Amino acid sequence: MQFIIGNWKMNGTRKEKDTMTATISRKKTSARVILCLPFTLLSGENHGVLIGAQDISEHDNGAYTGDISGKMIAETGAKYVIVGHSERRSNHDETNKMIKTKAENAIKNKLIPIICIGETLAEHKSGATKAVITKMMKETLPISGKFIVAYEPRWAIGTGLTPTPEQTAQIINMIYEYLKKHNHGTTPIVYGGSINATNAKSFISIPHINGLLIGGASLKTKTFLPIIDSIS
Ligand code: PEP
Repeated sequence: MQFIIGNWKMNGTRKEKDTMTATISRKKTSARVILCLPFTLLSGENHGVLIGAQDISEHDNGAYTGDISGKMIAETGAKYVIVGHSERRSNHDETNKMIKTKAENAIKNKLIPIICIGETLAEHKSGATKAVITKMMKETLPISGKFIVAYEPRWAIGTGLTPTPEQTAQIINMIYEYLKKHNHGTTPIVYGGSINATNAKSFISIPHINGLLIGGASLKTKTFLPIIDSIS
């Protein structure tokens, strides 16, 4: 089964969520479509579409103004949560240690974390990708529980740039082998970074890829639905 995960970031109104979820619910697809929405849109009508959050607090409750706990997210009916997105690492100084705690907190609250890992452009250019990805996996992945790994090269997010399918295949294979060695051989691996209707098929057909994580192109039905179609 392939996952198609939309990340709306800080975009979207209730009306836009309604239009998107109603349209997806009418679609015949073998893909598991998940929409990761801002906290304000998690609850309410979702026309049966799976919903995820974009962040989770490291803490259970208490004096953490502005944070949202796993229990609060679960109470909205959301089933997934993105952790360690590149924009959280850059804009909020999130570390691997924090990301691991967030992922474990998600699992504790019966949410499935979508754990993002990816190298910077400088790391990509200097050939450090494999070492960076391995370190991130060592330091962020929970020992047990269900999760999804999202390989998102940080330089590919929102830039229109992507690694070649061949470069991607090498990294995905390395992630797959690492997961297998650590008793997570069935953990889904998705790719994210500048996916659109034109390039979706070449990424989805890479061995061991189980889906795509899509930012910009997930915001409008006109750009999102053709990506879902590329799976079916
Ligand atoms: C993302 O935000 O996770 C992402 C992949 O964004 P985009 O598809 O816009 O590159």
